[in-house]
Order: sequence, then structure tokens, then C-alpha cells
Amino acid sequence: MSETNGITANGVSEQTHTPSQRYLSTRGEDSGLSFEEVVLKGLATDGGLYIPEEIPQAADWQSWKDLSFVDLAFNILSLYISPAEIPPADLKDIIQRSYATFRSEQVTPLIHLKDNIHLLELFHGPTFAFKDVALQFLGNLFEYFLVRRNAGKTGRDRYHLTVVGATSGDTGSAAIYGLRGKKDVSVFMLHPKGRVSPIQELQMTTVLDANVHNLAVAGNFDNCQDIVKALFADPEINATHRLGAVNSINWARILAQTVYYFHSYFALARSPAAPSGFKLGDKVRFSVPSGNFGDILAGYFAYRMGLPVDKLIVATNENDILDRFFKTGRYEKNTSSNSADPVKETLSPAMDILVSSNFERLLWFLAYEFAATAGLDDAWNKKQAGQEVSVWLRDLKTKGGFGPVHDDILSAGRRTFESERVSDEETLATIRDLYRQVGYVLDPHTAVGVEAARRSATRTPEGVPIISLSTAHPAKFAGAVNLALKDEEGFDFEAKVLPPEFVGLDKKEKRVQDVANDWKAVRDVVRAGVEEELKAAEASS
Ligand SMILES: *Cc1c(COP(=O)(O)O)cnc(C)c1O
Repeated sequence: MSETNGITANGVSEQTHTPSQRYLSTRGEDSGLSFEEVVLKGLATDGGLYIPEEIPQAADWQSWKDLSFVDLAFNILSLYISPAEIPPADLKDIIQRSYATFRSEQVTPLIHLKDNIHLLELFHGPTFAFKDVALQFLGNLFEYFLVRRNAGKTGRDRYHLTVVGATSGDTGSAAIYGLRGKKDVSVFMLHPKGRVSPIQELQMTTVLDANVHNLAVAGNFDNCQDIVKALFADPEINATHRLGAVNSINWARILAQTVYYFHSYFALARSPAAPSGFKLGDKVRFSVPSGNFGDILAGYFAYRMGLPVDKLIVATNENDILDRFFKTGRYEKNTSSNSADPVKETLSPAMDILVSSNFERLLWFLAYEFAATAGLDDAWNKKQAGQEVSVWLRDLKTKGGFGPVHDDILSAGRRTFESERVSDEETLATIRDLYRQVGYVLDPHTAVGVEAARRSATRTPEGVPIISLSTAHPAKFAGAVNLALKDEEGFDFEAKVLPPEFVGLDKKEKRVQDVANDWKAVRDVVRAGVEEELKAAEASS
């Protein structure tokens, strides 16, 4: 199965370059896929998530210390994407175009927040949230693969991708900005009508490109997700349309996010605010506001590639399934709530989840390491890991949870991860504290991460700095920010927080279609929308 040699017991390839990186499913029934296949398919046929067969080692990572974001991204992504699949010059061009849309020259700048805590600002992309880092790249990748598949093809012979997604806010706008105007791709983004923040809604609906379809569903976010799931499971639409996914289970999103872990580490090493004597090779902690576990999983890959990570801090809000796992070894849906909706609405809505979809990928690696302690061959270890994950995920579905997992699996997880749960009240207090102490305005998601970092700092060995990931611009979550800061002397949201790009957004032309909470009605809308685009393409060719 594996085409690489020199695999150590923990599955790390000793080669610095993997000439033909292949992918397998976490549930063990799908393997040998190319990067292009996993990007276009999203979810594996056995219901699992794709992971690389080997995690490549970034053997000469220290020599990357002065590279620009784009050059660094190129080196890292080249370890996962073979030149036979995407020629190096093309990959470089895709990366360059993806990050040219960012407002900061450093793409993801690192600033010193306070004491030993540094803030990695990931919100300088088109929609002011960290999801742009991955979705700008994914949009260009889709386009690249489609252009190549469609060379010499015309009209209905062309491979047309129909992206269907549900959003409670950030994913939708970032996906729309990643895909707007791209040839051979249509995007249908479902949001619960009137239930996303006004800025988020405007960011989506003011995009007027013909291939972007905003659907306002008469229902809640769960209804939107159910409609999307029904469409992906529907044989009829799958017979006529190639459906694509852009949610965080797409491997390319995780991969793109590994870059800023390296980039921020180097920025810290250069920073005058780094602990005195800090040098390349010294460890850092990362604190990551987490929902679906995609962002922090990228940190895990960076660590496995060789970045000196002391701990990855999983920061959750009151939807705390991840925090409970790392404390107890049990992964269980929240049943403590009396309300009909087990997902609690919090001030950090992009982290309001019941289960974390990407956690399955970490579970696979933990199960694989555990299997490897038995010392059999690598193929057997991988098979064991796939079976273990399948059973866990089945129990999650049928019994609402699983665990406690084996002690050795939990301790392996705890060697790399620690976790914190931050309530809404603590989130507001953190926004207020940092504003008073250093005059910086945190968005509520970022505040969850910063509070977790502050707690972790009391436990870090002397001198280990913490990089806390800032996942959104505070203006996107005006409600929470105002709630925290309205009584602060001299605080003025419009002067202090609001970026010029948001001013006048509400006066712009909008494009959005109301739809019923009915998947078949949505299916009709999707068919009609794609048909209209295909006709327009035919007419213009
Ligand atoms: C999506 C999102 C998160 C959570 O990231 P995951 O990869 O789902 O863990 C945190 N903060 C913001 C602002 C987000 O949009």
C-alpha cells in the first residue's frame, strides 16, 4: 500500500520529500487516493475522512526561517502534493494568488499581546476570519483541477462542480469569497434566514457573481445541515450533478492551515518580545479556539512534521465535547442541556458544535500509535486503527458517545494536547481585561483562546511562550464586543473596531433567494441554478 520506505514505528516517513503521497480513509475501507481525488471528493466513500498515508518530516525546517508566507507555504505543501500531480510552478502560482488577496503583507502577522502571550492574527483575508487562509487556497485548487480536467472539452462535457454547503456564518462567506467567479463551479450556500450576524449575512449576500447562490432557509442551522446531508445522500441529484464540499473536513483546508504554525513560530523567534535567549528549536505552546477541530489539527500536523511544540491547547466554549474528552477520555454528545437543542448558543457561535468532525482524524493517529506498540507491520497497524475508529464513530452515532478510551490512548493525546473550557461570562471578562490592560480588542472566539492561554501560562515551564490564534476580526462579532466594552471609558466601536470595508455594506445590492425548509425544494433550486449557468456558458462560448 505504502510507496515510501524508511517508515519508523510511529508512522513518520524519514524522507523529506514524498514523491507520490497517497491518502487513506480514517475508517479503513478506502485507500490509495491522490491529492486531487481527496480534494474533489471531500468525504471518503466509507464515511471517513482522508489523511495522508505518511506524515512527511520537514527535516530542514530551520532553514525556512526567513521565508515569506508564500515561499514557506510552497515548501510545506510540496511535502504533501507530488510534483507529478501539480507541477511546482503551478503550485507556486496557486499559492501566490491565494494570499495576494490578504490585506497584510505578512499574510498572518504575529503581535505581542501581553507577558508571554503572542497573538497570531489570522483575519486579514477577504472575509476577516481565519477560514479565508484555507478557502482562498481551496477555491484556486478547485479551479486548477477543473481547468485541467476540462481541457479541450466544451459545453455539457465539461466537469462542473456543484458546491453545496450550510453555514452559521464564517464558513459561508469565506467559501463564497474563495469560489466567486470561478469557472465550472457553482456554489449554493444555505444559511438560516435571519439567524446569522448582520455583517456575516451582508458579506454573503452582497456577492453578485453569477455562480454564487445564497439560499436563506426558513429554519435553523441544523435544518440547513440536514438539507445538505439529504442532497449528498440523494441518488437522483448525484446522478446528474457532481457535488462538492467545502466544509472543514476537506483535507486541503487542514493542509493550508499548517503553514501559519510554522510562520508564526519563525516570527516569534525574530520578535524582540520573545523570551530572552529564545532560539530555533525551543518549544512553544499554541492556544486554539476550537469547534470542528480543523484549525488545531493543522497544528498537530505541524508538530508531527517537526515543529517544536510543547503543547497544543484546545480552547472550547460551553460546547465542550473536546474539553470533556481530554479530561475524561470519554467522547460524548452533551446531554446535560434540558432544552430541545443540545447545542448551546454562545457568544462565539463559530464554535457552537455538538461534535467536532475533524477529531476523527486525531483519533485515527492515536489509535494507530497504540496499535504500533504491538510491533506488527505497518499495514496491520493501519487496519487496526481504521477498525477502532469505525467502532468509535458507530457508537457515537448509535449511542451518543464512546469511551473511556484505553489509558494509553488518552495519555498519548495528553502528551500533545491540553484543554480548557471558557464560559460566555469569562469570554466577556477576557475581552474587557485585555482592552483595559493593553488597549487591544479581541473578538469573542479569540478571547476564548486567550483565556485558555492565560490559564495555561500558569502551568507552563518557565519561559515557554504561547502563541494564541486570533480567528476573527472583532467587527464581525459586534454584539459580543459591545456587550463587553460598552461601559469602558472612551470606547467607540465605529472608531476603534469597524474596518472601512464594512462601512456601507448594508447599502449595496444583494442577491439572495428564500427557500423552504424542504430538501426537495432546495434540490429544485440547485438544478435550476446550475442549468441557468450552463446555458449562459453555452451562449457565451
Ligand atoms: C470556524 C471558526 C473557529 C473554529 O475552528 P475549527 O477549525 O472549527 O475548530 C473558531 N473561530 C472562528 C472565528 C471560526 O470562524
